[in-house]
Amino acid sequence: MSTFHAPLDDILFSLRHVAGAERLPDWDDELAAEVIGHFASFAEGRIAPLDAVGDAQGCRLEGGRVRMPDGFAEVYGELAEQGWQGLTVPEDFGGMGLSPVMQAGVSEIFSGANHSLQMVASLVPGCVGVLRRFGSEAQQAAYLPALAEGKYLSTMALTEPGAGSDLSAIRTRAVQEDGIWRLTGEKIFISGGDQDISKGILHLVLARSGGEGVRGLSLFLCLSERADGSRNAVSVTRIEEKMGLHASPTCQLAFDGAEAELIGEEGGGLKAMFTMMNHARIDVALQGVAHAARGADLARRYAAERKQGRDATGQPVTIDAHADVARMIATCDDLARSGRVLCHLALVEEALGTAPDLVEFLTPVCKYACTEAGMKAADLAIQVMGGYGYLREYGAEQNWRDARICAIYEGTNGIHARTIATRGLQLNGGAGARAFAAFLRDSTPDLAADVAGWEAEAARLATVQDPAAEAHAFMERTCDLAMRAARARLVAAEKRVAAAA
Ligand SMILES: Cc1cc2nc3c(=O)[nH]c(=O)nc-3n(C[C@H](O)[C@H](O)[C@H](O)COP(=O)(O)OP(=O)(O)OC[C@H]3O[C@@H](n4cnc5c(N)ncnc54)[C@H](O)[C@@H]3O)c2cc1C
Repeated sequence: MSTFHAPLDDILFSLRHVAGAERLPDWDDELAAEVIGHFASFAEGRIAPLDAVGDAQGCRLEGGRVRMPDGFAEVYGELAEQGWQGLTVPEDFGGMGLSPVMQAGVSEIFSGANHSLQMVASLVPGCVGVLRRFGSEAQQAAYLPALAEGKYLSTMALTEPGAGSDLSAIRTRAVQEDGIWRLTGEKIFISGGDQDISKGILHLVLARSGGEGVRGLSLFLCLSERADGSRNAVSVTRIEEKMGLHASPTCQLAFDGAEAELIGEEGGGLKAMFTMMNHARIDVALQGVAHAARGADLARRYAAERKQGRDATGQPVTIDAHADVARMIATCDDLARSGRVLCHLALVEEALGTAPDLVEFLTPVCKYACTEAGMKAADLAIQVMGGYGYLREYGAEQNWRDARICAIYEGTNGIHARTIATRGLQLNGGAGARAFAAFLRDSTPDLAADVAGWEAEAARLATVQDPAAEAHAFMERTCDLAMRAARARLVAAEKRVAAAA
């Protein structure tokens, strides 16, 4: 069975020397190394060994409740006990009050160690963000401590049979009776919609309290249990059989007059949900990075031991001596490292709050570029390992299956491509595109001619009435430049640090 090695040094290097995390007022390099290093040890020792177990066993629906694979409840208990669920929750509410940028380091390692468990636990920071921004004081006081201590896990309940990419088609109804909101309807594909590892579940549900379209949608907080301990009217009607992520229960949920609380303003549901979704998009981008890094690690270690073929002198060699194998390993490495830098840059800029147009433009670019990178590297890792890559035993095929979902959820990559070609280019009168071009130019003078070409194409596309047919090609071009810019910044930082040593 393959051992998981957290890419700790690469993560810390990217945060410190490339993304410039020290520009953040609350940043402390030593603390970051300690916190992320601590999590890396926990992930390697306790979380990762469950990855293959979870893949083989999967989740079960028994008596209307989801049962997680063996060992998951124990490890989640340790995770919660050590306070990891409260990393970004303010100290006043029982959390560690640390930066979301630090969370990113933890999150990537978590995904590489066990994407399924990360998927069930990782919607909490987004939920915390929603409550801090849109929740009332009473809601924050009631729920933030419970999320920080790991008593509650949270879900993001958007998708319905008729409402996938198009959330304006949501039909789940929210009706207020005697001052209590009640939800009725069906949600599908809800990650962690039920499980038996946390005491309760806090569902964030997008439901229709008004008329048609997105303006009729509001955001609700719906607990799996009422205050008196009885079950709320939310039940799991099925869990999906999937290609990968077998230990992450993907649930169909029936809301049958379930009691709920409104979060924020009525009709402001999509806006509030976007807070969670923007967090989740970078988190999914980091899942892609994690799969790329895992692919690179599996491939590199295997290739350093596998003897096949001979060198020019007739001596047997390990396969990493072959140029084609070395090329594939280097590509996996590059996809992981450049993608990580891109995400870290976006996260640091978001935390600084001084370049909102750039962050808004970069978020879908990170999601698309890094999830494509994860799939490509996971695929190449199998190729490096030859027939053994195709076997279950070595972990590369699970990495490939688990990586695939990242391009689908949190908005399909096709939808993100459309967003960039439409809203992205129109954003603030083109300010997002200008900020992105400036970011590319600042990365390296080598990109100057290509950036000029991209700007000309962006200007043309901005005048096209329906750019849908050109969206994919434009997104590919955009992501290629973004990854090249990230790579240039990484290489420059490596030279700087080496020169200073
Ligand atoms: C394992 C898993 C976990 C999930 N977890 C959650 C969760 O926790 N919460 C949640 O709410 N949802 C979740 N989802 C749902 C996921 O977000 C949706 O599957 C995704 O948004 C796509 O919706 P859809 O499946 O209905 O596909 P569709 O919307 O039917 O899309 C199918 C294809 O058509 C394309 N397409 C659709 N509309 C357009 C358009 N206007 N322009 C261009 N192309 C278009 C898409 O890009 C895609 O290629 C999960 C799904 C899976 C499989």
